[in-house]
Amino acid sequence: ASSASASTVRQVKLDRESELRIEVANDSSLRLRVLNGTAEIFGTELPPEIWLTLPPRLKFAVFTWYGATIEMDGTTETDYTADETPMINYVNVHAILDGRRNRAKASSSDGSSTSEGPRVIVVGPTDSGKSTLSRMLLSWAAKQGWKPTFVDLDIGQGSITIPGCIAATPIEMPIDPVEGIPLEMPLVYFYGHTTPSNNVELYKVLVKELSQLLERQFSGNVESRAAGMVINTMGWIEGIGYELLLHAIETFNVNVVLVLGQEKLCSMLRDVLRNKPDVDVVKLQRSGGVVSRNVKYRQKARSHRIREYFYGLANDLSPHSNIANFSDISVYRIGGGPQAPRSALPIGAEPAADPTRLVPVNINQDLLHLVLAVSFAKEPEQIISSNVAGFIYITDVDIQRKKITYLAPSAGELPSKYLIVGTLTWLET
Ligand code: ADP
Repeated sequence: ASSASASTVRQVKLDRESELRIEVANDSSLRLRVLNGTAEIFGTELPPEIWLTLPPRLKFAVFTWYGATIEMDGTTETDYTADETPMINYVNVHAILDGRRNRAKASSSDGSSTSEGPRVIVVGPTDSGKSTLSRMLLSWAAKQGWKPTFVDLDIGQGSITIPGCIAATPIEMPIDPVEGIPLEMPLVYFYGHTTPSNNVELYKVLVKELSQLLERQFSGNVESRAAGMVINTMGWIEGIGYELLLHAIETFNVNVVLVLGQEKLCSMLRDVLRNKPDVDVVKLQRSGGVVSRNVKYRQKARSHRIREYFYGLANDLSPHSNIANFSDISVYRIGGGPQAPRSALPIGAEPAADPTRLVPVNINQDLLHLVLAVSFAKEPEQIISSNVAGFIYITDVDIQRKKITYLAPSAGELPSKYLIVGTLTWLET
């Protein structure tokens, strides 16, 4: 029952345990508020009577546990109510995780060893609602005062930072339905591509680096260790994608695997993890509200995400155009590059491109329109194991004058001269 609705103020009455599913129009935003009752968007309760402005193309649901009246102003692509949702199952999972957090906290104060909170990974095919479930679990936990760590391994979309990265950040408050995850101090590693098949080895290395960094933080922080983590993953669940899921489960010492809407994946994981009794594999229903997004939509979403990094969600930031001399920066690529000459290898050996080799990159027109990461590394050798401070976008390369022009979120010098380039491009529109 989807319909394009007229731009008028209208009210929708929601029964208990039902939701209003909305796709905002492509070219205008939608205003919405809770008139009475209580309602939440993906785990974050909405303030009573205050108008929220939801940006164009956003797909979301307003869910109510006990009933609510919602008022809307503006056009939508679709909006309809649904009373069949998996929300009860999802909140039951939350309750179990909460119990584990409490036990972890209690045991850490009495000095016993089991002070490890839940380490949850959410897996499933693309468009099964993984990011949404991750978000709900994090927001519900934050509402109860926990500060769980959100780990996003999805290089295709990226809900913490731009695509092409893996990242982690503590969630201290329920996630704002409009603003998303605050970008204060995320830990970000730059992979540089939007699909892991570009360099599987590098992806694994970065996942490992991120996990080790979090492990160090956890060891000094009882509170965040008890709160645990929620790990969002890519929708690639076959072949190498499946291997990478297993790798993540192992690397982060996951103890709860939530499988969304895929019997086969669930039974495969149960099978392979059966000798690990402390890992629970839980099958969960996919919500009927999850919207499938095609390749083109995903590309657009990626580009929006990069735009948002430089310009802000509401076009409210003003990025700076800066100029640097070629000699002020060093650009590196990780992996591939010129192979060792056959003559330098033992007889019979095939030259192979080392996937984690650091390759210096000449500064030339090829860098135009690419998004580069600014590494925290102090020496080139540290680049692979270092997280990144942020990103720049190359808008001009002047070979004659040996200067590049780039866009950065703020003015001033780059925090480091070491830049990493992959295949991540962006066309400013
Ligand atoms: P995945 O992470 O598995 O690819 P997402 O969680 O990103 O899937 O969901 C896909 C899209 O569906 C997103 O735009 C999300 O906001 C939307 N969505 C998820 N659940 C609902 C729902 N119950 N009602 C409406 N839209 C939803």
